[in-house]
Parts: sequence; structure tokens; C-alpha cells
Amino acid sequence: MDEDGYQIYPSWTKRPVVIGHEFAGKVAAIGAQVTDFKVGDLVTAEQLHWCGKCAICRKGLYNHCRNMGRLGFVTNGAFAQYVAVKEKHVWNINGFKEIFGSEDDACEAGAVIEPTGIAYNGLFSRSGGFMPGATVVIYGAGPIGLASIALARLAGASQVIAFELSPSRQTLAREMGADVVYSPEELAKQGTSPHQVVLDLTAGYGADMHVECTGLPKVILPEIEQALAVNSKVVNLGRRAGTTPSTLSIYQDTGSQSFGSLGHTGYGTFGYIIKLMSTGRLNMRKMITARFPLERAAEAVTSLANREGGKVMVKI
Ligand SMILES: [Zn+2]
Repeated sequence: MDEDGYQIYPSWTKRPVVIGHEFAGKVAAIGAQVTDFKVGDLVTAEQLHWCGKCAICRKGLYNHCRNMGRLGFVTNGAFAQYVAVKEKHVWNINGFKEIFGSEDDACEAGAVIEPTGIAYNGLFSRSGGFMPGATVVIYGAGPIGLASIALARLAGASQVIAFELSPSRQTLAREMGADVVYSPEELAKQGTSPHQVVLDLTAGYGADMHVECTGLPKVILPEIEQALAVNSKVVNLGRRAGTTPSTLSIYQDTGSQSFGSLGHTGYGTFGYIIKLMSTGRLNMRKMITARFPLERAAEAVTSLANREGGKVMVKI
């Protein structure tokens, strides 16, 4: 954060642009070449608009497309009554109506697939996941951290440990499936620290997977590196520009790996999440803590500055 409260966002943007990139809605019109969707379908869409033509896409690494378009960052996004999306980036969520009860609730659920996809991509597609019974630690319980908690629980972790400063997000973390949630500030007052807690909860062995969702790696990575189990994985999801010092010898000593993870597309990620949510096994809608009408979208965005609560939804 700089002195004006701005954070450097290390990714592609263009201005002016209509923002809003985690969304769902009903198909109002289709182009002449659209084959798999019809007017009235409930849908969501990936915001990473990979080209499918570049050498990186042809390797299947769509999150790193060389010609990446980004809905809500580079092209106009979803803080609007209508948004145009190419068919290849759209996913059908008609099945959500049955499980969530109404079209409105189905769309709310559809709009949180995108942040869930970022967690899914890191925890499973990029890092290869963890063994059932593993201990997984999530640092930060914003929407992506909350999704990481829910997915770790669903995928069979024996212990899901979360660290979060905000009391309201601590409550959400428990609701999403964390076994225990600690405030690093409270731990400091007690003369202890996150890594000590992880070691205590694992009989000194450390955790099998650590998921960084705070965007404060300078603070969190030293804690993670002191609580690595042998053959553990560090999944880096938080976004922060700049350099983070790391103690490489710890990775050698423990045979651990650090994974950079970016984006939510490819690997069938949206499809798997839609299947999980359609069966009722995964309810990411629980992380929505505030709803604003479109006319108050600016207020919705500024309400996020205090880093309290979960997902804030703008609705038409
Ligand atoms: Zn490409």
C-alpha cells in the first residue's frame, strides 16, 4: 500500500473500462455462430479471455496466454445490465436453480465460481494437490482464502488451519470448513506465532500444504518456511508486486516445493466447481456477506477497503 492507500496491482489493465469480473446472469441474446447456449440460459464466464492460438495456449497453459484479454480489466466487465462474452469462455449453470432454489440465488452462486477457481487452480491443478488426511494451512480468509478452506475440507484434509486478522472473516473461515482459526495479532500478544501453532498442531512435523492468500508474503512466507513438513507444498495465490526474501535451504532440507499460481482457467476448473456446487457438496454462496444494487456499485467497492467480511455482490 502506498501513502494514498493504493496497492500496485501486478497484472494487465486498461482504462477507461467497466469493471466487474466475477459474475453470472441470464443469456439475453446470442450471436449467429453460438451453438451451445440459448436465450434464457443461466451462465457464468471466465474473466481470463485466452486466445487459444498462441504457443502457450497450445501447450494448454491458458492462464498464461500471450494475448490475454481480461473482462473487467481490459475489456468492459459486469458492473452493467449487459455484458458481451465469447462462447468459449461461458459456462452453463442452469443446474444451480434446483440446488439453490431460485434464478437469483443460482446467479449469486455462479458469480463466486471465479474466485473459487483461483483457489482450485492453485490447490490442485498447479501444485498437484495433497493426499487425503493431509494438514493444509490457509493464510488469509478473503474470498480466495475462504474458497481454499472449503476446497481443502472437501478434498479430504484431516486438518484445515486458518490464519486471519478480521473477526468476521474468522467466523466465515469456520463456516467454510476450517477446523481452527487464529489471529496472528492475538498470537503475537500471547508471545507465539503462526508457525509455532502449526508445529504444535502437527506434533512438530509441519503442514503438508500452505496456501498464501494474504498478499503479504513478506510477513507470511517466513512463517510458512518455519512450518514446512517434509515434501510439503507452498501455493502462492496472493498478489503483491515487489520482492519477497526466501530461505531456499529450507526447501532443500525439507524437499518442499513452492508453486506460483495465477488465474482460474484451463484444466476443466470451472466445470469441476460447477459439478461440485450442483450436487450441494460445495456451497460457495455462503461467503457472500453484502449485496449492493448496481447504482451503489462504487460504495460496494469502497466497502472492501477495510478487509472485513467475505464476498460483496453487486446486483441488477
Ligand atoms: Zn493464447
